[in-house]
Amino acid sequence: MKFGGDMEEQSTDLKPIFDGIFGKQKNIVYERPKFAERKISDMLNGLSKISLLDWERYAFSRDPLVGRISPYKRKEYMQKSWECGIEWADRLKSEYGNLSAEDLAKKLGMEIEYPILPENTDRVLFAEFREPNNIKIYMDAVNKANKYLFDEDIKGIFCDANIVDILLLHELFHSIEEKYKKEIYTRVEKIELWSIGFFHYKSNIIALSEIAAMGFAYKYSEITFSPYILDVLLVYGYSQNEASGLYEEIMELVDNNERKHDEC
Ligand SMILES: [Zn+2]
Repeated sequence: MKFGGDMEEQSTDLKPIFDGIFGKQKNIVYERPKFAERKISDMLNGLSKISLLDWERYAFSRDPLVGRISPYKRKEYMQKSWECGIEWADRLKSEYGNLSAEDLAKKLGMEIEYPILPENTDRVLFAEFREPNNIKIYMDAVNKANKYLFDEDIKGIFCDANIVDILLLHELFHSIEEKYKKEIYTRVEKIELWSIGFFHYKSNIIALSEIAAMGFAYKYSEITFSPYILDVLLVYGYSQNEASGLYEEIMELVDNNERKHDEC
């Protein structure tokens, strides 16, 4: 699973940039709307004020089943998935002590690699987990984002947060889900797509896995903001315009009245 919910859609948008970088020039009928240019520190500041469970609509916006889930059910899923991630972070800390993200991943049998870019694809990827035990963190995106962390305003939001750790923990959660798929909430909870007689066709809900992975990364790394913020920061490294568009989309999806700020 990829970090940041379903990035497929965004990476399609970002594709022309990569085609340009790699010199694969072709006639692309592509015109992305131009968004108001925003400073990354202003965007991160705005995003950091969104309280953890208020990312709900954004979290579900990338899920293909979103149209089948009522707002009431969505809220319940958000809360339960987030709690699932938190519980697993607590459980692993009490079991193994306060290991670093990398040591924890190794302890759980993961093989971790830090390639610069994904191979054989021009998709923008930040990190991914591949069964049974491989996690890749793509350093091109991380290195680009890390440059912004020197900004004083951004330091105030990120404190000591480490992007690699957050990505790694997110992917590690997907490996935990795989291992405990028969019992873990994000896999056991399903939505019925259709039924005929006694036959019921049920499906997992991707957003639940993503939310729980974010909750897990948040709790384990002890950061004070939602890891969903990284979607904007990591995209910003590739396109300020795309990041601004994403920021606007998120802000529209969040209820302005429900924002609050966690201090670090
Ligand atoms: Zn994921």
